[in-house]
Amino acid sequence: MQGPLPTKSPNDTHIAIVGAGIVGMSCALWLRKKGFKVTVLDGNSPGTITSYGNACIIADYACVPVNAPNLISRLPSLLFSANRPLSIDPFHAITHLPWLMAFLRHCKAPEVERITNTLGKLLLETNSGLDPLIEMTSSQDLFKKEGCMYVYQSSVSYKKAKASNQSRADNHVQFTQLDSNDIMDLEPNIKPGFDKGLLFNNARQVLNPKHLVDRYFQTFVENQGHYLHQHVLNVEHQRTSGGNLSLALANGTRFAADKAVICCGAFSKTIQGIGANKLPLDTERGYHVQFKNQQSLLNRPVGWAEAGLYATPTNEGLRFAGTVEIAGLSKPANPRNIAYLNNKAHQMFALDESYSSDWLGYRPTFPDSLPVIDYSPNSHDILFAFGHQHIGLTLAGITGKIIAELILGNKPEVDISGFSARRFE
Ligand SMILES: Cc1cc2nc3c(=O)[nH]c(=O)nc-3n(C[C@H](O)[C@H](O)[C@H](O)COP(=O)(O)OP(=O)(O)OC[C@H]3O[C@@H](n4cnc5c(N)ncnc54)[C@H](O)[C@@H]3O)c2cc1C
Repeated sequence: MQGPLPTKSPNDTHIAIVGAGIVGMSCALWLRKKGFKVTVLDGNSPGTITSYGNACIIADYACVPVNAPNLISRLPSLLFSANRPLSIDPFHAITHLPWLMAFLRHCKAPEVERITNTLGKLLLETNSGLDPLIEMTSSQDLFKKEGCMYVYQSSVSYKKAKASNQSRADNHVQFTQLDSNDIMDLEPNIKPGFDKGLLFNNARQVLNPKHLVDRYFQTFVENQGHYLHQHVLNVEHQRTSGGNLSLALANGTRFAADKAVICCGAFSKTIQGIGANKLPLDTERGYHVQFKNQQSLLNRPVGWAEAGLYATPTNEGLRFAGTVEIAGLSKPANPRNIAYLNNKAHQMFALDESYSSDWLGYRPTFPDSLPVIDYSPNSHDILFAFGHQHIGLTLAGITGKIIAELILGNKPEVDISGFSARRFE
């Protein structure tokens, strides 16, 4: 394959961004900022899939992946206890055994250390990717900085997390250790029973991730960004008057562009002709339940370590988001996961009412918990920006910045060799 050619001047270059989640909209804004002509294509409204209902945290501390050396020994209890945050659909497991086996292979200690350090370096650049977008879209009012707390019910699990917390510290994450009195002082509405905690002092939260995507979208169209409410079915190389690429749309028409950036999260492999069909992309499904108008019970997001969930005050209610369900993209929502989050919410807080809404989202996940931010193996006109697993809200800004640098023909400031699309070959 030919190496990347120097891009024509940005205002002569038309980029198609496929997918209008937080990653797609961040790429779109960064490219508009650099002067490119940009069209976003998505058959769903912006920010209505996984970027809609997440736990709202700019989790720049989250360098330790779900892959953990003790995951294999913990699997039986995680899978078969009635009250569990992890579940695997047996049919999906059988049909996607290679992905599961690869995920477990990346649970070996040296591999976890490598992943943690790779993510850690990218997370250090969170603000350099996000802050210019906050500025550009005047969305300061959608952010709050009170840190993020982790709470532990048992000192045994706190001790077990010691190695992970040391890895965070090694990756420049700042945190303060808390005892039960500190937890009560900071968050007096949490029911007693949490003995240990951590406060990630520098973490921020978004008050509503859907409102953030809406704000990005509004600024994008106000700044000559274009939007086509269409799904993309395939991408072909074809010299047309409009550019090197021809995108087949769901309405039967074609759309021409010079370059395409694929930002379809867990759905990215469904597009034909982009060179993604061999990538081991799957989804870790996650849920939320939300209690309308109960957000004043918390000052900041709180992660309950043993329960695998975050309680987050949003501008519409108190949200309990979490669980990992390996069950693919097409199965309907599992009521057991929703009931699990509801039960945990009532264990954590005195909530009078029932939850007002629930939601299922699809974290896009590779077996090594690292995203792909790279050219397609097939073409330097097609770029990939997907697979951000549990931290796509956090990493969207820096991903957009890196994509803009690649399209400009510059070497990104961040080392992106760990996010290569060829690493699974
Ligand atoms: C329960 C839960 C809690 C989470 N909490 C956090 C958190 O606190 N902090 C954090 O950083 N991250 C969090 N995440 C992860 C984060 O939400 C995701 O990583 C992120 O939303 C992924 O964004 P995305 O833009 O890649 O994908 P999506 O938001 O899924 O967007 C993909 C877009 O592509 C579109 N699309 C799909 N197919 C096509 C096609 N063929 N043509 C055109 N468009 C197409 C879809 O319609 C969609 O709009 C959480 C996730 C879950 C599930």
